[in-house]
Amino acid sequence: MIRNFWCALLLACVIAGPAFAQAPAATSQPILPYTPSLDLASMDKTADPCVNFYQYSCGGWKKNNPIPPDQTSWSVYGKLYQDNLVFLKGILEQASVDSGQRDAVTREIGDFYAACMDEASAEKQGITPVTGDLEAIANLKSTKEIAPVAARLQQAFGRSVLFGAGSTQDPDNSELVIAEIDQGGLGLPDRDYYTKEDAKSKETRERYLQHVQKVFELMGETPAAAKKDADTVMQLEIALAKASLTRVDRRDPYKLKHKMKYADLTELAPNFDWKTYYATSEYPQFEIMNVATPDFFKELNAKLASEPLDNWKTYLRFHVVDSASPFLSSRFVDENFAFYRQYLRGAKEQQPRWKRCVTYTDRQLGEALGQVYVAKVFSPELKQSTLDMVRRIEDSMAIRIQQLDWMSPETKQQALNKLHGIRNKIGYPDKWRDYSSVKISRADFAGNMARASEFEHHRDFNKIGKPVDRGEWDMSPPTVNAYYNPQMNDINFPAGVLQPPLYDAKMDAAPNYGNTGGTIGHELTHGFDDEGSQYDAAGNLKNWWTKDDREKFDARTKCVQDQYADYIVVDDIHINSKLTLGEDVADLGGELLAYMAWQDATKGQALQPRDGLTPEQRFFVGFAQWACENDRAEELRVRAATDPHSPGEYRINGVVVNMPEFAKAFACKTRQPMTKPLEKVCKIW
Ligand SMILES: [Zn+2]
Repeated sequence: MIRNFWCALLLACVIAGPAFAQAPAATSQPILPYTPSLDLASMDKTADPCVNFYQYSCGGWKKNNPIPPDQTSWSVYGKLYQDNLVFLKGILEQASVDSGQRDAVTREIGDFYAACMDEASAEKQGITPVTGDLEAIANLKSTKEIAPVAARLQQAFGRSVLFGAGSTQDPDNSELVIAEIDQGGLGLPDRDYYTKEDAKSKETRERYLQHVQKVFELMGETPAAAKKDADTVMQLEIALAKASLTRVDRRDPYKLKHKMKYADLTELAPNFDWKTYYATSEYPQFEIMNVATPDFFKELNAKLASEPLDNWKTYLRFHVVDSASPFLSSRFVDENFAFYRQYLRGAKEQQPRWKRCVTYTDRQLGEALGQVYVAKVFSPELKQSTLDMVRRIEDSMAIRIQQLDWMSPETKQQALNKLHGIRNKIGYPDKWRDYSSVKISRADFAGNMARASEFEHHRDFNKIGKPVDRGEWDMSPPTVNAYYNPQMNDINFPAGVLQPPLYDAKMDAAPNYGNTGGTIGHELTHGFDDEGSQYDAAGNLKNWWTKDDREKFDARTKCVQDQYADYIVVDDIHINSKLTLGEDVADLGGELLAYMAWQDATKGQALQPRDGLTPEQRFFVGFAQWACENDRAEELRVRAATDPHSPGEYRINGVVVNMPEFAKAFACKTRQPMTKPLEKVCKIW
């Protein structure tokens, strides 16, 4: 659960921030707008595809799609997600009408949404939804008593207060779920924000301090007291950040594997009352667990002894109110927006309240809302045609593995075993999550958020000691994203990502294979990138490579790492290509597979040029147009520090330079920017 967003195609959408919109009247159900998967108006035909293919394919889109003021970036994916929000709003407005005849699922999502939209109640309640938690913190008599309070805060507010905890698949036994704890406890998006000494990082820390101070002032403190308290929070978080692993380190699964007995944990960090913590959380009994980051817990343990209790109370008070702020009254919502979304990511305006409410419903009750969504947008035919594409791409992968000139027959056999073990999950889960035990009140939005979050945590803990549920999904059906999970060895495509302009049932094969085919290939290749390739077919962290083959593979991925290290994200910040390596490898592998599968799927057909583009050119333009985007500089800075994906431009141009098929399709010459000399082309899968 802690690291649940494995290898997604994109970072999940982040929302926080207020807005004041009147609750719209219930309207008739909207339909999803249609945009073709290859859109000539999105191209810039004045650009030379051999000089900058991204500009050629996306220049028109970039020009025609300025970033809306309430967004931090704008992209084909982001736009589709926004269309989904409008669509889901229609579903939720209907569901929220208390007709007296609603079924259980309709009532759950309808009442949750109605409570969220009740801004007047949130305004009247002010800070009261968290006063009980603030009192519990005020009543702490010793650091030992922190444990049960931390348990409650982690579960109700969904933030890793002090540290993160949950269940995980046993890295050595992929059939079993065990307990896990991990680093956490920070208010900024990454540990590097606390440790870097460049001017921008210092400025961000200064602005964060001001934000923390403001949150204390909103709790009623004087500016002087609030400033002192903000300093306390900062110095505690700096200590936790310094003891935390970097994102690059965290890509090495062996650095996160420290299985131990529960008794060993109580020796590693005796100053925290683990017994009470787990009892309060209602964990099932367990003996074995994974402590992902032992050094972090050593530091936390030392700090629990050395820091006065009052400092911990200050830290906890801030995190309660800061994490609950988006669900409280406008003073809190505004401050949360001003720091996290406006300063840190560059949004100009708050999102209207309905957008946030639809997103919260999707986040908290995703498989209830998803049932209604899927029934309206995802037909059995669509599922069948996507599965057909998946199978063709898997077949192409099998052929490519067999054809590799650098890999021994032994490792090839293992790779094929792994490929054949991949489970394809398309659209939505076979079995829906049941939220009927979550108490949802039409008059208690903050309470609904807390109870849904607690439900999810309990669902997660209760897997401990049980066999792995391979039908489980980490994304809700309306999500416009996809992922591969190396421990499950499965690819997951929510219905939301299988809509136009990404997958376009009205369009011919070329752009569909370039776009969605490439995404399927991307997720598949994650099983064989520098990280995923360390897991076997069953999802165990177990080497299946000969030493010689692994060395050759590492040299080949290094080619990609060196290529992307030259690219600039924003200002003078280069891509951290050790962080993006897995995604960059997946982007390249995915497109090669898609190209092969497309050729196979259209074998023997007399494909004709259309709109002045050859079929091959349409494949590549279809590919590029998934990634058209505009980003605010602030957003790019956050992504450079946190996002394992390269910016859209390089996810296209960085791939095509390694595909001689592209140079041929556009008759590019060897010295042009979109081509590499053949001997320099990165070839992995
Ligand atoms: Zn990915």
